[in-house]
Amino acid sequence: LIVSFKPFKTFIFDLDGTLWRWSKLNEGAKEVVSKLQKRGRFVYFLTNNTVLSRSGFVQKLRDFGINTDERHVMTAGYAAARFLAANGIEDVYAIGERGLLEELDKAGVKVSDRAKAVLLSTDRNLTFGKIAAAATLLKKGARFFATGKGLWWDLGSEKVPAEGFLIPSLENLTGAKAEVLGKPSDVFRQTMVKELSLYPEDTILIGDDTKSDIVLGARCGFKTALMLGGETTEKEARDAKGAEKPDTIIRELKELIAGV
Ligand SMILES: [Mg+2]
Repeated sequence: LIVSFKPFKTFIFDLDGTLWRWSKLNEGAKEVVSKLQKRGRFVYFLTNNTVLSRSGFVQKLRDFGINTDERHVMTAGYAAARFLAANGIEDVYAIGERGLLEELDKAGVKVSDRAKAVLLSTDRNLTFGKIAAAATLLKKGARFFATGKGLWWDLGSEKVPAEGFLIPSLENLTGAKAEVLGKPSDVFRQTMVKELSLYPEDTILIGDDTKSDIVLGARCGFKTALMLGGETTEKEARDAKGAEKPDTIIRELKELIAGV
C-alpha cells in the first residue's frame, strides 16, 4: 500500500487511458506533469501504441502543453525496431501504421514482403492481402513478432481492435509463435532500462492496464498505481494476483501530487 507519492523521484506514465483518451487529456494531466517536473521529479511516458513514432508522441504531448523530449518517451514501435536492428534482422514484413514504419526506417530495418520476419501491430488499413502475406511468410518459417497483445486501442472517438486479436489466428494458422516486443516484454523492459535513467526503488509506474503496465512495473521492481477509467476495472484490479496486482489504485491523476 502506498500512503504518499511524495518519496518517488521518478514517475512513469502510460499514455492511452492513463494520461489521455487520445484526443483529450485526462483531468489534471498537464498540471500534474508540470508540477512533478517543477518539483524536480523525472517524468517518463510509455506506450504500446504505434500510430505515431516516438517523435510523433513527443509532438503530441507538446501540442497538449506537456513539455518533454524523445529521451523521456519509450514506445513499443521504437523498442521493436531497435530490437530487430540489434539482432541483425535487416528486413521485416510489417503490418502497422505510419508510426511503426517510421521507427523501422530510423533503425535501418527495411520493409519487404520476402522478409524472414513478420512484425504485427495495429493497422486500421488491414486487408486480407496483408494477412495472407504475413501468414505465407510465417508458414515458411519466418520469425513472428508483435508490438503488443492488447485487444483494443482507445483512440478517443473510435475504439479499434488492436494487434492482439490477430495473434491467435496467425498462430493457429501457421504454427508460428508470436514474441511480444512491447509492454510488458523483456525486450521492452531491457530497452527501457538501457535508455532511461531509472532507479527502481524511487520509481512509480502509473497505468490503466494490469496486464501490460502493472506487470511491466512489477518486473522492473517499481511500485505501481492503477489508474481507473481505462482498460482495467476496479474489481479486476482488486482481484488481480501476483505481478498483475497494483500497489495502489487511483481515480484521478491529481492524487499523485497531493503533498508533492
Ligand atoms: Mg493504457
